[in-house]
Amino acid sequence: SSGCTLLRDPRYNKGLAFTERERDAHYLRGLLPPAVFNQELQEKRLMHNLRQYEVPLHRYMAMMDLQERNERLFYKILIDNVEELLPVVYTPTVGEACQKYGSIFRRPQGLYISLKEKGKILEVLKNWPEKNIQVIVVTDGERILGLGDLGCQGMGIPVGKLSLYTALGGVRPSSCLPITIDVGTNNEKLLNDEFYIGLRQKRATGKEYAELLDEFMRAVKQNYGEKVLIQFEDFANHNAFDLLAKYSSSHLVFNDDIQGTASVVLAGLLASLKLVRGTLADHTFLFLGAGEAGTGIAELIALEISKQTKAPVEETRKKIWLVDSKGLIVSSRLGSLQHFKKPWAHEHEPVKELVGAIKAIKPTVLIGSSGVGKTFTKEVIEAMASLNKKPLILALSNPTSQSECTAEEAYTWSKGQAIFASGSPFDHVEYEGKVFVPGQANNAYIFPGFGLGLIISGAIRVRDEMLLAASEALAAQVSQENYDKGLIYPPFSNIRKISAHIAANVAAKAYELGLASHLPRPKDLVKYAESCMYSPGYRNYR
Ligand code: NAP
Ligand code: MN
Repeated sequence: SSGCTLLRDPRYNKGLAFTERERDAHYLRGLLPPAVFNQELQEKRLMHNLRQYEVPLHRYMAMMDLQERNERLFYKILIDNVEELLPVVYTPTVGEACQKYGSIFRRPQGLYISLKEKGKILEVLKNWPEKNIQVIVVTDGERILGLGDLGCQGMGIPVGKLSLYTALGGVRPSSCLPITIDVGTNNEKLLNDEFYIGLRQKRATGKEYAELLDEFMRAVKQNYGEKVLIQFEDFANHNAFDLLAKYSSSHLVFNDDIQGTASVVLAGLLASLKLVRGTLADHTFLFLGAGEAGTGIAELIALEISKQTKAPVEETRKKIWLVDSKGLIVSSRLGSLQHFKKPWAHEHEPVKELVGAIKAIKPTVLIGSSGVGKTFTKEVIEAMASLNKKPLILALSNPTSQSECTAEEAYTWSKGQAIFASGSPFDHVEYEGKVFVPGQANNAYIFPGFGLGLIISGAIRVRDEMLLAASEALAAQVSQENYDKGLIYPPFSNIRKISAHIAANVAAKAYELGLASHLPRPKDLVKYAESCMYSPGYRNYR
């Protein structure tokens, strides 16, 4: 084969790292400058170049170019610099990339399935060059991060998420498939943008939407079988809950916004018990925000308490209260509540404001999941601190500008009492001579290892018990040294090891539940998970 083909294939290209012998054997002489670099030197050069860009979007584009040019180097850099590059290839920069996807679009990085492909989705899947797919991340672009409806330009999300599956969870890049389903967009700005890459129409809904999704789900199963993981990402909440409920008994489906969030937050809560003592059942929880994140977390907490205490989940839910845009969710509102809120409508008189709800419910844990910033005011934090010696405060809303409060506010307003973690990263805070390090409840802790666990066990269904297993594995990775700083999540730099432990625990649960198809069960699942992980070092070509 020609040397040019090798240089143009990102899966095999090594650029200047082709050795002298490889250059002779593969017709590469003259196609490369004389210098031979090793991967470390290439990495050093690229990181240097990347840091020269001041505009985050330019860093994003440089990373995407690298992914298209030299895949192994892309993953090597991402793995070795995960804390620095996560915000580049994923949130927040990926959000800006999606907003501008029409202009920066160069190559289709995933599969586009629009209403035009109705009736032909199976054929469309067959057009994708890779046949052996293990994970699909799919969006319909309706609720991209906190940015709303970005229609077809949501493609950046499945692309970015899957690069994290590989970098953090070790899933082979060739077995990852990003998909955007385009049913139109209600974003007027995009509809009027001459560079918009999607269908120029209002969103299809109802029967038309359901039929397209159904054809998609059938085609995926027909083409890739029972074991392909389908991760729903950034769907609007009405569709997100419905799709999960509809397909969880027939497909291997996972929604990161609902289940991944729930699992990572539960992990933080389990870890925090080391700092506040007692069991989960000793706590009372209050949420501000009752959407995908809030109700998903609430349900998983109720399940974990039920698992620990053997009490039915209908009982354990009663320790958990949620506030939505209309106030505390209580039984008198049952008639007008969306179905996913109904389990949380407990007996209580109506309460409008958060502070009022705190005083009435006396929570030990306060969780912000409304997407609205600055809602944990001084009064709110002080109320929590007056009720609890160590109030647990999680401000999950993203991006940073929407955080319910900052780390500094949580620590100073609570006079150093709060245990705090957030959705967006915050720097450490010094308060009265003590350093507090806030943890970040980043979904990227869970989903890569969770997916790896499903893959290595050949799981055919996702069960809530597997989410609990993932949470417990993550919580177990928090060390005493982390706790001493107030951290309830382990440092991200260890993420590959963390992912292997999560994968092992999830796989163990899949075997236990009889949902694993990869038999016999490997003895040491952590070792096995590690041995399955893709590593980005170069191969030698003879
Ligand atoms: P969602 O499904 O749209 O839910 C938002 C919820 O907040 C709804 O229940 C809504 O009330 C409520 N709400 C909105 N404004 C409010 C207000 N002023 N006061 C009280 N409640 C209000 O959104 P989501 O997917 O759950 O995401 C919510 C936030 O969580 C986002 O900022 C997201 O970035 C963040 N998040 C963080 C993580 C993480 O940290 N790992 C993971 C996922 C999501 P109604 O139901 O009455 O409309
Ligand atoms: Mn998401």
